[in-house]
Amino acid sequence: MNSADCFKLIRSKVPDGVKIVAVSKTKPAAMIEELYMKTGHTIFGENKARELESKRNNLTKDINWHFLGHLQSNKIKYIASFVELIHSVDSFRLLQEINKEAVKCNRVIPCLLQLYIAKEDTKFGFSIDEVNQMLDDKVFQELSNISLHGVMGMATFTPDVTQIRSEFHTLFNYFNALRTRNFSYDPLFCEISMGMTDDYLLAIEEGSTMVRIGSGIFGGR
Ligand SMILES: *Cc1c(COP(=O)(O)O)cnc(C)c1O
Repeated sequence: MNSADCFKLIRSKVPDGVKIVAVSKTKPAAMIEELYMKTGHTIFGENKARELESKRNNLTKDINWHFLGHLQSNKIKYIASFVELIHSVDSFRLLQEINKEAVKCNRVIPCLLQLYIAKEDTKFGFSIDEVNQMLDDKVFQELSNISLHGVMGMATFTPDVTQIRSEFHTLFNYFNALRTRNFSYDPLFCEISMGMTDDYLLAIEEGSTMVRIGSGIFGGR
């Protein structure tokens, strides 16, 4: 099956209210263009700032670009002027740097907080305590050019479905706790980015609002 057919099949299994981020990292711009032309899909995700910048420069401005990998502070400048959502804010310092670059571009950058839910220690992210500490900090409250739209998480890389489900459930609970306690049900704080090619249906059952699908659409990397 080509990417457009793979996308359509996945789209048919994903409820209307759940967004799909087509993760096009390492894939050529031509594949992105083809998927866009054949399906009208506009949300694409990348995990390298320079690669994202170059694809954006070579493709239609109708595409909404999401960033979803570990972001180094010195690379924010390449994407700050246009990125629609940064899924992977994993430290207070990074959020402050994103705010700085956003000020320079005179825009507000929507961000998700990446929360640590996996049992592996290779994954980046905040603990829920670190998030609460940050949200209470005056310095955070003065960041005028970032807007928090929700949370993101990655489950442990394991075939153990029970464990993956429980990690997604944990993220859902964190989201609800933050929404209640810190965001007073702000309608902008509404996204739970969880689920990839191998676990997106499970993630949706556990409350995902945004799934990030790469190999399931574009093939292996
Ligand atoms: C690569 C990547 C994905 C997509 O992974 P697939 O298994 O190919 O669907 C999703 N999220 C993040 C953060 C990624 O880096």
